[in-house]
Amino acid sequence: MTIRANYHTHTTWCDGKDSPEAVILSAIGKGFDAIGFSSHAMLPCPLLDWVLTAQRAPLYAAEIRSLAAKYSGRIKVLCGVEADYAKGVANPDRSTYSAIAPDYIIGSIHFVAAPDGEFVCVDDTPQALQDGIRDHFGGSVEAYVRAYFAQQREMVEKFDFDIVGHLDLVRKFNAKFPYFDENAAWYREELVKTADAVLTSGKIVEVNTGAISRGWLDDVYPSAEFRALLRDRGARFVLSADAHAADAIDCAFDRFGDAEEYVNIF
Ligand SMILES: [Zn+2]
Ligand SMILES: [Zn+2]
Repeated sequence: MTIRANYHTHTTWCDGKDSPEAVILSAIGKGFDAIGFSSHAMLPCPLLDWVLTAQRAPLYAAEIRSLAAKYSGRIKVLCGVEADYAKGVANPDRSTYSAIAPDYIIGSIHFVAAPDGEFVCVDDTPQALQDGIRDHFGGSVEAYVRAYFAQQREMVEKFDFDIVGHLDLVRKFNAKFPYFDENAAWYREELVKTADAVLTSGKIVEVNTGAISRGWLDDVYPSAEFRALLRDRGARFVLSADAHAADAIDCAFDRFGDAEEYVNIF
């Protein structure tokens, strides 16, 4: 049986293409049991102007909850957030989002804190990433990737949230613009340490098909090797499309949607 729900969905509240209502209608059309919204959010101090701010977050939550009431009986609609962890700027913690009391929080890292205090964006463009590693990590890809995973471990240990988003997003450009060897001993060491930290935290790991819908990878996050490490340690997984359009909410669910693999979180 294939999963008929998606909890990682972006709309016009952030960088998604469609309105929440258009997404709900798409989900009903696809026979979904549930749809969860997860606007990008960077409270308390957003680095970007298009993510949820303290002012817009309550308006977002009010719209999603009013749609949940409107469509109750046809589909379960949940109000979540994809909350960034950026050191000193954004905390993916329940207390930070208490004003909107989200149904769930996906904790994600899109910005790696460099030793000089600047941030390098993980998933903007290959060129921006290359420049960021040159300017803020002394050109060392290994130092950058290790800092990324150290930040993941810090995030799962420090904050109260539910689902770890795209755990190895650093792979995003590695198929089209290879910049590190995923078989290197140092990389595998980071995966093992991070799998241990995630399991100790008890958080759910998402299997995220977003790189497939955007054409960057023909694969999910985390990689098969990383999933195996997590599974061996007893990880719980949830499938997510990281959808940025109404028709993408089940992208590649036919390939990765075997329900046996996933927990039912709601
Ligand atoms: Zn994300
Ligand atoms: Zn996302």
